[in-house]
Amino acid sequence: MDFSKFKKGTTAVWAGEGENNGTGGVTTPIVNSVAFSYHDLDVWHQVSLGNAEGFIYSRNTNPTVQALEHKIMLLEGAEAATSFATGMAAISNTLFAFLTAGKRVVSLKDTYGGTSKIFLDFLPKYNVSVTLCDTTDHEALEAEIAKGCDMLYLETPTNPTLKVVDIARLAKAAHTVGAVVVVDNTFATPINQNPLQLGADLVVHSATKFLCGHSDAMGGLLAGKKELVQHVYHFREINGGSLQADPAYMIARGMKTLELRIERQNASALTIAKYLKAHPKVKDVYYPGLETHPGHDIAKRQMRGFGGMMSFALNGDYDMVRQFLTKLQLVHLAASLGSVSTLAGPPRTTSHVELTEAQRAQLGIPESLIRYSVGIENVDDLLADLENALNSL
Ligand SMILES: *Cc1c(COP(=O)(O)O)cnc(C)c1O
Repeated sequence: MDFSKFKKGTTAVWAGEGENNGTGGVTTPIVNSVAFSYHDLDVWHQVSLGNAEGFIYSRNTNPTVQALEHKIMLLEGAEAATSFATGMAAISNTLFAFLTAGKRVVSLKDTYGGTSKIFLDFLPKYNVSVTLCDTTDHEALEAEIAKGCDMLYLETPTNPTLKVVDIARLAKAAHTVGAVVVVDNTFATPINQNPLQLGADLVVHSATKFLCGHSDAMGGLLAGKKELVQHVYHFREINGGSLQADPAYMIARGMKTLELRIERQNASALTIAKYLKAHPKVKDVYYPGLETHPGHDIAKRQMRGFGGMMSFALNGDYDMVRQFLTKLQLVHLAASLGSVSTLAGPPRTTSHVELTEAQRAQLGIPESLIRYSVGIENVDDLLADLENALNSL
């Protein structure tokens, strides 16, 4: 099928489906077979060598997993895609596949907590040079890139303060020095933002979040230029961070409703952000859809919607956060994000639990910050819930 003529919502439903399904079934089956058998030894050999289409062993790929890989490939407008057991497996495989001893990576101070750990604690031990810049200081980023680097690694909007970086501007700078540009697109999803169209070479996702959308399966995805994806794939098929068929099915199932969910979450989040912004008990709201957000202009240029993630700080201390969060009814107080149900938590317990209070302060994360991942509930009920909890303070 030629997907180039379809809109995202159509692609999300149809891409990858039916391609490995000889049964006439209208959904991709879950193929739990570890290995795939051949009667003809020569065909087997050619498939093993990668010279012919087919499946060998599920650590490499699998019919169900490949259907999911096709979905993200087409939604991100990529030449190729591959998958991983978790989002962190996608990120660590991508970093370690390219960043061998002596290489240099430029990135942001505000990357996802786990990613930040790899930059600060692991890569330096392998003699990789890591430079993390202030996330929104584009001049500083350009200056560091111009010194020469092998990879530019971005994430936008960031976790948890929703900072926005200009992908097109920084990708251009990185390509001048021949660096590979990688963007973590987990928060935006391909419905709201396509980094490859803005100049990135690779896009990574924690499929655990919005793509799956139901908090019931973990996975990671990578899409982009074919030879770059292949490079990471070869590393992953050997180190074994592969995705299994069952979660691949769950994620692909979730992705069929991606556009519906994201449109709802975009709209609800904007309504809630405006409501909170005007509330006297709220000190600050971090949402790129608000005109007062410092990254709003860039976000407007590079995103089609502002997403379902926001954070806000109360006019008070951590005790107030505790009181407020436990008063809310329509949230799971839990880590993770991007689910059908609203999730909330303080970054000091969720995304940035690995950091010290001083490190969080350095990143501009107040201890009274609340990360709020808007679900697909009716927004009137969410607003009433927030109102009730705020009034109780
Ligand atoms: C959750 C998350 C990850 C890590 O994904 P896992 O599936 O939990 O390993 C990476 N980046 C971002 C932005 C995330 O939110």
